[in-house]
Amino acid sequence: MRAAELLTQVRTTWLQRVSVSLARGTGARQPFGQQLERFYDCLQQAVTSGNPAWLDSILLEWTGSPTLTDLQQQKNNVSELLTKIISITNDVAIENLAEQDALDLLTTITPFYTYALEKTARLEMEARVNYISNELIEMQQKLERLDKTKSNFISVAAHELKTPLTLIEGYAAMMRDSVSKDGNHQIDTLLTGVNTGIQRLRAIIDDMIDVSVIDNNLLSLNMQPLWLSHLFEILQRDLENVTRERHLDLEFKPFEGSELWIYADTERLYQAFYNVLTNAIKYTPDHGRITIDGRMLPGFIEITVTDTGIGISPENQAVIFEKFGQVGRANLHSSGKTKFKGGGPGLGLPITRGIIEAHGGTIWVESDGYDEEKCPGSKFHILIPARTEATDPKIAKLFGKLEKAQPEPDGKENPSTDASAP
Ligand code: ADP
Repeated sequence: MRAAELLTQVRTTWLQRVSVSLARGTGARQPFGQQLERFYDCLQQAVTSGNPAWLDSILLEWTGSPTLTDLQQQKNNVSELLTKIISITNDVAIENLAEQDALDLLTTITPFYTYALEKTARLEMEARVNYISNELIEMQQKLERLDKTKSNFISVAAHELKTPLTLIEGYAAMMRDSVSKDGNHQIDTLLTGVNTGIQRLRAIIDDMIDVSVIDNNLLSLNMQPLWLSHLFEILQRDLENVTRERHLDLEFKPFEGSELWIYADTERLYQAFYNVLTNAIKYTPDHGRITIDGRMLPGFIEITVTDTGIGISPENQAVIFEKFGQVGRANLHSSGKTKFKGGGPGLGLPITRGIIEAHGGTIWVESDGYDEEKCPGSKFHILIPARTEATDPKIAKLFGKLEKAQPEPDGKENPSTDASAP
């Protein structure tokens, strides 16, 4: 009880000293003197009762309304204020009380000040964590809105571009017809150029539409029975001209899962692997090698597409699956679908990922890094479920018929020749 009396004894001096030295720069919300008096009352109550929780209400009030600037500048105003109050209390006690009394008072109130400091530090930390999480939530909402706007823009732009493109296509075809009747070779050559441009533009618009369909979770799959080996053979054949022109070796190594009848959307899988393979072609220098391989895993088939190309840096290995995630220079874009480093708009891999994920699979890439000199290469892994049963009864019936016609191990009897061809 003696400490409470000593506190009363130094109250006026304490209040004067603290308000004079701290009034400036505290940003006090109420008249500072009143706030200090309340603090002192609470301290006295705490000391008298032996319960530091008497300090809680004033500490909560002080820490509960930090200004935005305090939070942004990460200031611990109340902790700093308390530290100064403690130091002034020491001075006031030493200067105004007998030595023993000062010692008694300081020994008694130190645990209460320690409690106040700990409590304040926790409250200020909580206020900052709340502030940061709110900032993060706001930022995330902004990003989501931005992504939605981007996605809407892609969808609107793609559909708007499609109509005039169809018109240009129609007129170009009519011009070609009339020119071929006249036999004007020069114009015919020019029209071939126009046609190539139209096809390229159509491919980009189709990619934009696919991306917006995937973004809006509207990709519907047309599941059919297929052999992956068949799909890869078709792809190998379709890309033969390009690989020959670029002196690239595109090899397909048959593996256990590639001979399995599975259910998948043949056209969409063709599109997915076409994207991965044309990328491998684009980013592998002439005379390089691209290998399609794979293995059977429990419930899944893993397909790998390995190239001896320029590779992908670790920081870009996830980015490339995001839309417009191309990592090259913008001026390299659209310089050709299969030319070395002829980058596109960066929609191929997001579409591929969308297709693979719609099948219940996943895609990722491994590479030792990006190096145009050493060419460390890239290895794309694609996992797709080994779905061997049809959910659609019509498909089940068709599957039954096809199963009867399963090929010999040498693969001579291939019933899918056209049924599942993309
Ligand atoms: P793009 O239209 O630019 O080819 P993609 O989405 O198909 O877009 O690919 C995104 C980016 O990923 C490419 O711009 C390229 O930088 C990188 N990339 C994709 N495949 C490979 C690969 N096999 N080797 C090296 N880089 C690759």
